Amino acid sequence: MDADDFRSVRAAVRELIRGSVLPREEQIEDDDAIPAELRAQAAEMGLFGYALPEGHGGLGVTMSEDVQLAFEFGYTTPAFRSLFGTNNGIAGQVIAKFGTEEQQQKYLPRMAAGELIGSFALTEAEAGSDPAGLRTSARRDGDGWVINGGKRYITNAPLADLFVVFARSDPAQTGGRGISSFVVEATTPGVSVGPHDKKMGQSGAWTAEVFFDDVRVGPDALIGEEGRGYAKALTVLSRGRLHIAALCVGMAQRVLDESVAYAASAKQGGAPIGRFQLVQGMLADMYAELLAGRSMVLDVAARYDTGEDTSVGPSSAKLFCTEMVGRAVDRAVQVHGGLGYLRTTAVERFYRDARLFRLYEGTSEVQRLIIGGGLLRAAGMRKDPPAPHPSHARGGALQEGR
Ligand SMILES: Cc1cc2nc3c(=O)[nH]c(=O)nc-3n(C[C@H](O)[C@H](O)[C@H](O)COP(=O)(O)OP(=O)(O)OC[C@H]3O[C@@H](n4cnc5c(N)ncnc54)[C@H](O)[C@@H]3O)c2cc1C
Repeated sequence: MDADDFRSVRAAVRELIRGSVLPREEQIEDDDAIPAELRAQAAEMGLFGYALPEGHGGLGVTMSEDVQLAFEFGYTTPAFRSLFGTNNGIAGQVIAKFGTEEQQQKYLPRMAAGELIGSFALTEAEAGSDPAGLRTSARRDGDGWVINGGKRYITNAPLADLFVVFARSDPAQTGGRGISSFVVEATTPGVSVGPHDKKMGQSGAWTAEVFFDDVRVGPDALIGEEGRGYAKALTVLSRGRLHIAALCVGMAQRVLDESVAYAASAKQGGAPIGRFQLVQGMLADMYAELLAGRSMVLDVAARYDTGEDTSVGPSSAKLFCTEMVGRAVDRAVQVHGGLGYLRTTAVERFYRDARLFRLYEGTSEVQRLIIGGGLLRAAGMRKDPPAPHPSHARGGALQEGR
């Protein structure tokens, strides 16, 4: 896509977000669902596949372009982006980067068109921050596989047509080694999805448990090389982190705009509260941190595109921007006073929505471990021993994934 085409795409996305999604935010919150007409509009604009390769029906955006779209998506309820987030991100990228030509042809064009929803199934009950400890198994059966296990908190699972599933295919290996990834269609016998989870925020974005009970798949379900699934998970999660950082910048812009508008009009003692310098101070802090986050995301995305840094930079951006938006939503509620605590106020909703960003695709603690570990490895420090975490003892890279 050339620069003019991308500018048109970004302008169209802005118009959709601000003109069509934003006015329906309360409806999405109350119904806990994205209206069918918004899903259709997103599909028509190519939003289910903007980051998938052009050769397979996507728009093939670069990371620098991806984050600019995410700035726009972040301006409204994150549930809207979540609907097509797994197709473009964690699930779609595994197939696009590591799938066979046959898998790519079978799934990617229909995912890009919004006809199929893909989910990324990695997290388990005792394998979240340390997914290398996963217990789902994939046992050889003839030339195919039998998958058994359970996953939790899987985004879009109740809507999913296919799952990118991570399972241990070599029980003799521990940690990150011996994990393979598979594409499993949701209609395969033995696949079941639990009721969708009741969450703190992000109404309209659904997660659920997924169970695999003697699920038989053919050899064509294996994605890429046997036993190399964990490395694939890490690769796509790193890209996803930068995308999440950009969403946070979009949300911080939105709550700042809400707060400035409120401060300029709401009155105390006959004067707008924006006349109070302590209120101006909150707006100033929000703005300064927003600018820092946006600059950081753009810089890290440019270095991601050149291949200069695909790990420490994305984790740093996720760490800073997810924590930055947490402070922004908190200040936004404060600027709104009691009104900020009432349901139906946008900033109250964003306050709850923002909390997830510090948890998924790697908690803040996990990002700090990746950044610190990366810096020390670059300085020549050996990864082992001593092992500060049991996952190291098992020989797996500690949570450089989720
Ligand atoms: C709404 C939602 C959507 C999600 N979507 C998906 C999805 O689509 N696919 C998917 O596979 N997963 C998904 N997840 C899972 C998510 O990535 C995990 O919840 C997250 O990685 C944290 O894992 P955990 O919940 O097991 O917490 P834990 O790993 O148990 O963490 C608990 C606490 O311990 C800390 N901790 C853990 N290990 C360390 C350590 N070594 N050092 C320091 N502190 C540590 C954590 O930082 C955290 O504070 C989703 C989760 C949610 C809530």
